[in-house]
Amino acid sequence: MSKRWGGVAFGVAVVALFIVERLRPLRVRKEPGPARVGRNLAIGLLAGATTAVSEWPVVAPVQALAERRRLGLIRRLGLPPGLRLVLGFLLLDYTLYLWHRLNHHVPFLWRFHAVHHLDLDLDSTTGLRFHFGELGLAALFRAAQVLLLGVDRDTLRLWQQMLVVSVVFHHSNLELPIDLERRLVRFLVTPRMHGIHHSTRPRDTDSNYSSLLSWWDSLHHSLRLNVPQASVTIGVPGFSKPESVTLEASLTLPFRRDPRLRLPASGTTVYGTV
Ligand SMILES: [Zn+2]
Repeated sequence: MSKRWGGVAFGVAVVALFIVERLRPLRVRKEPGPARVGRNLAIGLLAGATTAVSEWPVVAPVQALAERRRLGLIRRLGLPPGLRLVLGFLLLDYTLYLWHRLNHHVPFLWRFHAVHHLDLDLDSTTGLRFHFGELGLAALFRAAQVLLLGVDRDTLRLWQQMLVVSVVFHHSNLELPIDLERRLVRFLVTPRMHGIHHSTRPRDTDSNYSSLLSWWDSLHHSLRLNVPQASVTIGVPGFSKPESVTLEASLTLPFRRDPRLRLPASGTTVYGTV
């Protein structure tokens, strides 16, 4: 499929998911009006622009350098193309799991990633709601992945396209039949699984860090599925009111000294100590 038709198919899938998650909701909404959707789209537009802009000076030159000098783990192994693709895909997804954990445990990174978790509801639009600073930092991380892992650009493109679809899907508020979701979650991140990660309970948030394949949480014993969705409150402790999550409050959060992001006693972030 060409890039253009791939984009059209993705747009149609997102709109379809946006409609279906309103017909079969998994969790009750706290902010049902259009303001929240508009806010998430605005934050998402800034994030998308940041990714597009950082691709050109950051990721693309590193990719070209790694290809020219034959740098990176996978290039050194001398594997056949099929195996290179599978191994590259798995390593990209596994290192993203590690990056997501770092985003919760390094105070500087959490300031940016918290903006994504600030949403009081979880649906397909949350999957677009990332602070532009987080995606700028993610571009640096992506460049490091390309350089150290030695993945080729086709593998990177395939994984990125599947990741975007997965991110919108697992943030959605779609109630899938439980038997289907139990089968899917054996290998993919699903809406119920990721909903637990967005809970205000630190024990829940410190779980389910995978973004596409769910295996990494199983591997590191961070998989948590036995939490009823009705008991999950979406958001970040201390930011439960709509006034705390406005567009301005969300975009400025990483640059403010906000005591709600810290534990009063230790001075470390809430999730950094779990
Ligand atoms: Zn997270």
